[in-house]
This record gives sequence, C-alpha cells and structure tokens, in this order.
Amino acid sequence: MKCSKCGCMDSKVIDSRMSEDGTSIRRRRECLGCGRRFTTYEVIERTPVLVIKSNGTRQPFDADKIRRGVIKACEKRPVTAEKINALVADVERMVYNTLLQEISSKQIGEFVMKGLKDLDEVAYIRFASVYRDFRDVTTFVEFISDLERLIKEDKDGKEGGADK
Ligand SMILES: [Zn+2]
Repeated sequence: MKCSKCGCMDSKVIDSRMSEDGTSIRRRRECLGCGRRFTTYEVIERTPVLVIKSNGTRQPFDADKIRRGVIKACEKRPVTAEKINALVADVERMVYNTLLQEISSKQIGEFVMKGLKDLDEVAYIRFASVYRDFRDVTTFVEFISDLERLIKEDKDGKEGGADK
C-alpha cells in the first residue's frame, strides 16, 4: 500500500483487528519511509446478487430491506433486536450460499419465513401474508390451516403425543 505522504511502498502492520461481525479486518499500518500511520480494511469480495421481483425487474440484494420487513412483522411482538439481526444475517448468508447471481424475491421470502417461523408465529403469519401471493381468501384460509396443522404437529412431536 503506497503511503499517501511520501509515496513509499513499504509499510508494516502494527495492529490487526477483526470487525465484530467477522466480515472485515482493520489493519493499522506504519509507513517504513516516513513513519506516517494509516488504516486499511480487508473484506471478502462478493459477487453482487440481483433480486428478481415478481414483475420481472431486477435490483441489487439489500439486507436492510429484509431487516425493515422483519422489524415490521415483529412489531409489538416479544422479539429482540438481537434476534432480528441474527435472522437477517442468516438470510444474507443463505442468499450468498446459493452462489446464484440472481435470486427471486419469492425465494428470499421463503428464507425469511423459515427463520420467522422459529422466532414468532404471529410475525411469521404477518410476513407470510405479504410475501405469499394470496389470490383470494380461500388460499389464505388454506394457508392458515396448513400452519395450524404444522404448529399442532410440532407441539405433538414435542410432547411425544402423550395427550391424545
Ligand atoms: Zn510515508
């Protein structure tokens, strides 16, 4: 890294620190020519992922949009900011792990719903009602009965089906 003061190409690293989320490393360097200190950041290069919306248009994947959607769904629910952030980070990881350059908004919605389902049932239903394309009330009712069945199965599984 060329020193911006003297143009010297050599520097030594005097401190390295990983960011809290582990996605970047901050290095404090000292120029061997003039002693000037400066900071560099090292990050993993990611290929940008495009999101295909239902109308066919594309836009860059944006984790903040996911976060806003999740916060909205969790409104007035006992879900901590920490849990929301962890869910968003999980979704982000899943999106990049697909190694696809384009991913549908529907697929991302499925990832979010998978996470919300474990987090809060009400938030899950709220989010699902926006992301799933409910054409009419019947579809919605079917979806809710599906959900109730899943929740029931989940409970029965946990209790070992001892009550029935
Ligand atoms: Zn220098």
